Amino acid sequence: MKFQYWLPEKEKMARCELKSFQLAALKRTITCALRTDFYNKRLKDVGINSPDDIRSLDDIRKIPFTSKYDLRAAFPYGMLATNKDDVIRLHASSGTTGIPTTIYFNRNDIDAWTALVARSIFATGCNKQDVFQNMITYGLFTGGFGFHYGAEAVGMLVIPSGSGNTSRQLRLMQDFETTVVHATPSFLLHTESKMKEEGILRDSLCLKRAFAGAEPYSEDTRLRIEELLQIEVFNSYGLSEMNGPGVAFECQCKSGMHLWEDAFLAEIIDPETLEPLPDGETGELTLTTLCREAMPILRYRTRDITSFYTEVCQCGRTHRRIHRIKGRSDDMLIINGVNIFPSQIEEVVMGIKEAGNNYLIIVEKEGFLDRLTVKTEVNPDTFRDDTRKLNVLREKIRHKLQNTITINPKVELVESNSLPVSEGKAKRVIDNRPKDV
Ligand code: ADP
Ligand code: ZN
Repeated sequence: MKFQYWLPEKEKMARCELKSFQLAALKRTITCALRTDFYNKRLKDVGINSPDDIRSLDDIRKIPFTSKYDLRAAFPYGMLATNKDDVIRLHASSGTTGIPTTIYFNRNDIDAWTALVARSIFATGCNKQDVFQNMITYGLFTGGFGFHYGAEAVGMLVIPSGSGNTSRQLRLMQDFETTVVHATPSFLLHTESKMKEEGILRDSLCLKRAFAGAEPYSEDTRLRIEELLQIEVFNSYGLSEMNGPGVAFECQCKSGMHLWEDAFLAEIIDPETLEPLPDGETGELTLTTLCREAMPILRYRTRDITSFYTEVCQCGRTHRRIHRIKGRSDDMLIINGVNIFPSQIEEVVMGIKEAGNNYLIIVEKEGFLDRLTVKTEVNPDTFRDDTRKLNVLREKIRHKLQNTITINPKVELVESNSLPVSEGKAKRVIDNRPKDV
C-alpha cells in the first residue's frame, strides 16, 4: 500500500520529539487556561499558578478532571480565554445526554481544526480529484462545518448536502459523480436500503469511500456497509468539546484510529478509581486540548470507552491508535443487574446477513423484572414472507444475543425500512422503565 501524508513532519514525528512538543504545548495551554475564570480558580486550588508548575507530562495528573457538568456550569463565558471580540465562531454538542455545551473558536482555532480534518481525510487516500458529499447536519453540530472546511482544504469538490432526504442525496451522487461521503453509519445503511427500494443500481454511482462516525458502531456494521455499497469505510471520531471531527481517524490500514497527539493529550482512565491506565487497557478516554486558544479544556472526561493499540501502525504514523469506541459509559444499560452496551447487540444483529439494516432496542418493566426486546428489520434480499424461515431467523438472532449478553431477549422481526431513521445520531434505545426504580 502506498501511503500519503498531509503533514509528514507532524504525523511521523519520533515519539520523543512528539512528547517534548506536547509538553511545550501543554504549558502554552496552561497559560491560556489561567486566563479563564473557571480554570484560574481550579488550577490555583491545586497549586498551579503558572505554566512553570508543569515540569513533565506526568504533571498533568495534578490537574483536576473537567466534566460536561463543568462546561454547563461555566456557561456562557466562564471558560473563555480570549477577548470575546476575537471569537469568530461557536458550536454546540448534539445534546445526546442533556443540555448542549458551547465551544468557542478564534481564527487560529478554526485554522488548526481545519488542518486536523484535512490531515484525517488525506490519510484515507483521498485527494483533490475527489468529490465529497457531506451528508450530515450543518449548523451548531460540528460534523457539518468541520468536514466541510477540512475537505475544501484538501481541494476536493464539496457538496454541502446536509443530512436527510435520501432520494435527493442519491440524485446528487449520480449528478456530480460523488466519490466520498461523510455520514453516520446508520444513515449509510439507510441509504443502501433506499437504493434497493428505488431500484438504483450500484453501477450508477462512483462511490469509493465513506467516513462514518458521530455514533458508535461495530466492526460488523462497517463490513456490512462496505459489502453492500462496495466502498471502503473509515471510522471518524470526534466530539464538540475537542473541536468536533478530526480528533481520531483511521488511516488506509483501517485498524484503529490515529489520535492526533500533537493536538490532544490523551489518557485512558479507570472510570471508578480515576487512575490513568497503561496502554492496551480499556477505560474512559480523557482529553486535553494542546493547541486551542479561545477555549482550552483540560483532562476532559469524554465518557467514551476505548483502549490504545500497543503496536505501531504500518502506515508510519507515530500517533497512537484507539480502538473503535465501545460506547459511552452513560449508554450502558443495566438489565436485571447485567451490564449491557447497545454495541454488543448491534454486533450480533449486523453479523447476521438475513437481518436488515436497522434495529431498535426497547427496555420495559414487566412486574419486578426488566424485559429486553430487540426489533430487527429483515433483509428483503434474503427472504420475504416465508413464516417458517422467519421463525428460524428469529430464533437464530435470539440465541446469538443470549450467548453474547447472557440475558434472554424477545426478538421481533419487522419489514425493511420500517423502523425510524434519525437525521442525526441514531436513537437505538427506548428505555420505558420508570425513572425512579
Ligand atoms: P453529544 O455529546 O451531545 O452527542 P457531540 O456531537 O459532541 O455531542 O458528540 C460526540 C460524541 O459522539 C462522542 O463523545 C462519542 O460518544 C460519539 N462519537 C463520535 N464519533 C464516534 C465514533 N466514530 N464512534 C463512536 N462514537 C462516536
Ligand atoms: Zn496508520
